[in-house]
Amino acid sequence: MRIDIITIFPEFFSVLDVSLVGKARQSGLIDLRVHNLRDHTHDRHRTVDDTPYGGGAGMVMKPEPWGEAIDEILGDVADDGPVLIFPSPAGELFTQAMARELAQERNLIFGCGRYEGIDQRVFDHFARTGRVRLVSLGDYVLNGGEVAVMAMIEAVGRLIPGVVGNPESLVEESHEDGLLEYPSYTKPAAWRELEVPPVLLSGNHGAIAAWRREQQLERTARVRPDLLPPAN
Ligand code: SAM
Repeated sequence: MRIDIITIFPEFFSVLDVSLVGKARQSGLIDLRVHNLRDHTHDRHRTVDDTPYGGGAGMVMKPEPWGEAIDEILGDVADDGPVLIFPSPAGELFTQAMARELAQERNLIFGCGRYEGIDQRVFDHFARTGRVRLVSLGDYVLNGGEVAVMAMIEAVGRLIPGVVGNPESLVEESHEDGLLEYPSYTKPAAWRELEVPPVLLSGNHGAIAAWRREQQLERTARVRPDLLPPAN
């Protein structure tokens, strides 16, 4: 998969050189390129923002540098019809289902907003000819899109075949079957007077599966009842 990121803080993404995404880059499973939005400005101050039409606090990112930066990347990857993803608290919620969907794509382009966000016409313009998605990480406001993009790349990247060593470990995770995961334990069997639930030491696979399912349901009902399907 090729991933392009446009940002005014390219240095944010140096952490994607480590861990599983870093390995996937080294092995060529992920071709990740970071572009500095300011390289597409043409004034002495490399300006990317201006005051909002209609008034109000804060600054809005100007459309011209975005247009130029995205055009350049599209010129490079145009064949595959990339998805343009702009993190935004006003976007659709990022979910495991969306991560799975995006992991099927060959090209993703992420645009990291800052200040009060990006001029709306950037989204409208590229939506005329391609796929544009505004995506929210959750109901809170970050300073910029960089952290949201890193979270999305981690979630999408680990679903690309070959990135996670044992693909079975991807199946039994929170949100994969719509429920939260059951609690996990490892050795020792007793620690600070806390025992591992005896069923997990029983060797009875049926009983273990039943216990885990029960724990999933109980935890989901307690912590995230909104995830449970409505009762018939
Ligand atoms: N004025 C915008 C609004 O109220 O919708 C918020 C702008 S925020 C300060 C600056 C940037 O941070 C956004 O353009 C977006 O890229 C990113 N951002 C902030 N919160 C986010 C969230 N919950 N999910 C994804 N991106 C977010």
